[in-house]
Amino acid sequence: MLTGFLLFLWFSGPSTFLSDAYYDEMVAVRRHLHQHPELSNREVKTRDYLESKLREVGFTRIERMAKTGLRVVYETGKPGPVLAFRADIDALPVTEATDLPFKSKVDGVMHACGHDIHTGALFGAALAVKNDPDLTGTFVFLFQPAEEGPPPGEEGGAPLMIAEGALDNPRPDVIFGFHTMGNLPLGQVGYRAGGIMARADRFYLKVEGKQAHGAAPHEGIDPIVTAAGIVSLAQTVVSRRSDARDPVVLSFGEFNAGQRFNIIPQTASLSGTIRTLDVETGDKIPQMLDQVIAGVTAAHGAKYHFENETMCPSTQNDTAWTERAVAALKQAGFATQSVAPVMAAEDFAYFTERIPGVYFFLGVCDQDACENIHSPRYQPAEESLKYGARLFHTYARAFGKGS
Ligand SMILES: [Zn+2]
Ligand SMILES: [Zn+2]
Repeated sequence: MLTGFLLFLWFSGPSTFLSDAYYDEMVAVRRHLHQHPELSNREVKTRDYLESKLREVGFTRIERMAKTGLRVVYETGKPGPVLAFRADIDALPVTEATDLPFKSKVDGVMHACGHDIHTGALFGAALAVKNDPDLTGTFVFLFQPAEEGPPPGEEGGAPLMIAEGALDNPRPDVIFGFHTMGNLPLGQVGYRAGGIMARADRFYLKVEGKQAHGAAPHEGIDPIVTAAGIVSLAQTVVSRRSDARDPVVLSFGEFNAGQRFNIIPQTASLSGTIRTLDVETGDKIPQMLDQVIAGVTAAHGAKYHFENETMCPSTQNDTAWTERAVAALKQAGFATQSVAPVMAAEDFAYFTERIPGVYFFLGVCDQDACENIHSPRYQPAEESLKYGARLFHTYARAFGKGS
């Protein structure tokens, strides 16, 4: 009876989607998660809740991984491709400032990045896939913790999911994900082939000078003047040495030196971040910054120690799969638009390093203007759950029907 009704929904017109039938379930999951947000690598109750919901609706192959993550494998029993869908499940250390009736019950923790929407939508999509008799092949649903980054000294997130076998047995042919965006209209999909979110590097710089009286700078080596020269000249790496058509951001976030107005200090300590989209550019920029630092410190007779670490690679959308995905979404009636990349990082990147991936943005703004992710007032339209589930289920129907 239910199946017949769902088939009726599916065939009754281009604007109806099988996944819409699970909207109430999606809302329930989303609201529960929104009220009980948990920080990265601490999503224990989130994981337990999702696991019991997934078992309740009949999924049996559910594996715990990456501390608080889940992988659900659903086999249709018919030969076909292996498609993976991923949602992130962690919240942020943000104090919620919305008036939602289901606002966070946890002080100082909020689903301010919309991961509750991603997870609710993936739950709905999993239900739709399981109840769609046309599908063949295998579907892998990844509920990934710690996207915002594990606490210092801990492993977690996408790299740990992969290390623990999220992409093995079965190995997906392609992986899909999305992020809600408050600057796009509700339901609109923003796409971009190639780099869509940046590689994030973090660097530390220590400039070693020679302490002296502030009245006798010639007796010392001034690390403040040296480091100030580095900060100014560093921007020429972006403006003069890097191709203007290839986005690069270089920002200093810390500059610490000195204890007293009339002492030239011994050292200055700085840190900052580099954001790049292109893989090769990502390797080149830290080297160019090192050259600037070497040149300026040599000119002042100072010494330095420079360290750069890559926090997250860039998220690369596979070009061929991007074209196929956009065509499928358009055919399903989605509004789509090509968008500029976002220079924040997203650890979906680790999946796209290993297998072809498609990561798009989903508009969630149903007003004239909306707050965006990480704001304490971020309030994605709840209906975005519907669009998120449609997105995944559209991919399932377009690519999960064998050949
Ligand atoms: Zn975030
Ligand atoms: Zn996020």
